[in-house]
Amino acid sequence: MAITNCPACSKRISDKAKICPFCDFGIGSATDEDIMRKANMKKFQKKHSLQNQSMMAMLLFIAGFGFMYWGGAKPGEPQHTAAIGCSVVGFIWYIINRIRMIFLKKAD
Ligand SMILES: [Zn+2]
Repeated sequence: MAITNCPACSKRISDKAKICPFCDFGIGSATDEDIMRKANMKKFQKKHSLQNQSMMAMLLFIAGFGFMYWGGAKPGEPQHTAAIGCSVVGFIWYIINRIRMIFLKKAD
């Protein structure tokens, strides 16, 4: 019995398994084209979710930054600290997403 990767969810499964126990993908009945399509779809969804996350990270950064300047809170106040925290988290999150997107592109 050999171990192979599920074409749909990439988890390690037995090559004798007809259906992936993790995602119910029918390996036995899938043609190469099905597998390709599923893999492409997965990549597309991943890219899409990374783009959405980048957008959210950017919004978080801008919101935090904006509040810090125009929110009326003074340095040292909890709101001011929270605003800085928001923009820092948004910034780091955004960078991480950019890096993940680069790696996703390299995997092509
Ligand atoms: Zn699977």
